[in-house]
Amino acid sequence: MIRTQGLTKRYGSVLAVDGVDLDVREGDVYGFLGANGSGKTTTVRMLLGLVLATTGAIELFDEAMPRAAARVLPRVGTLVEGPAAYGHLSARTNLELIDASATSAGRAGRRTRKARIDGVLEQVGLAGIGKRPVKAFSLGMRQRLGLAAALLRRPDLLILDEPTNGLDPQGIHEMRDLLLALNAAGTTVFLSSHLLSEVEQMCTRVGVLDRGRLVVQDSLHALRAPTGRTEVRTPDPTAALALLDGRVEERDGERLLVRAPDPAELNALLVRGGVPVSGLALERRSLEEVILERTSAGADRVDGPHQVVGP
Ligand code: ATP
Repeated sequence: MIRTQGLTKRYGSVLAVDGVDLDVREGDVYGFLGANGSGKTTTVRMLLGLVLATTGAIELFDEAMPRAAARVLPRVGTLVEGPAAYGHLSARTNLELIDASATSAGRAGRRTRKARIDGVLEQVGLAGIGKRPVKAFSLGMRQRLGLAAALLRRPDLLILDEPTNGLDPQGIHEMRDLLLALNAAGTTVFLSSHLLSEVEQMCTRVGVLDRGRLVVQDSLHALRAPTGRTEVRTPDPTAALALLDGRVEERDGERLLVRAPDPAELNALLVRGGVPVSGLALERRSLEEVILERTSAGADRVDGPHQVVGP
């Protein structure tokens, strides 16, 4: 869906994006992570033909960009650096204007158009917003309106730059559910973010930029490989400790981390030994650990998994 080769952007002496080979596949929810200033926005802008690459090649839907922009971009919904909207007009009127400029009058009758706009307003949770002018909207509401505009074309691919910026925790949750629902219905989603937790919770594949270079690109599942330990919860940790002599590496109340790569085998051993087990799960590495390992000094500027952005 999105492929780049050696994508590079230089602003004078600043190498903003440095030889990036992106590979975003159909059906992905692809999380494009990186600290502030790592080059995410510049990359997104190049993908959409808003900024010309210094060197390198870009393909969207197997067509070279920006040459095929007129054919390709109608299939792409975008939200880049905050949505543009007329502040004195309502959300609906803004969407009507965008819709009218995107589709010919012959293709869409007034009723179809109204239904389409009702549909996207509903999808992004702005259905009850009425005639309030957009200038009275919070940043989060504007962000939703931007997504509604992106959805008008029923895009095959969504390219979103920090889509949860300015949203409160509830708004983030809703945006995540919405993007996952769109993905389940067949839309490929590419989103940039500086929040690990956001990417970890919703993405199938991850790319990490570190000072312009793509230092990680893989499926989340592959990145979060098992550590070789199993987490055991038991109401009788003393019995478990005695049975698993030497294999328990950490203990926190009823929770034990046991050197054991196969939870089923461990469970059988505990049951045979008469130790009650209330929970058992293979421990996986966190995305944060993987990223810290693979990035240089800039990596600690990617926000940790427990941070929540403010409204
Ligand atoms: P943020 O999350 O803060 O937007 P980012 O990862 O999107 O960060 P970019 O905005 O792509 O990063 O910026 C990457 C680098 O390129 C930065 O050093 C930035 O200062 C520089 N840069 C971006 N746009 C320009 C420009 N138009 N002229 C000069 N330098 C630029």
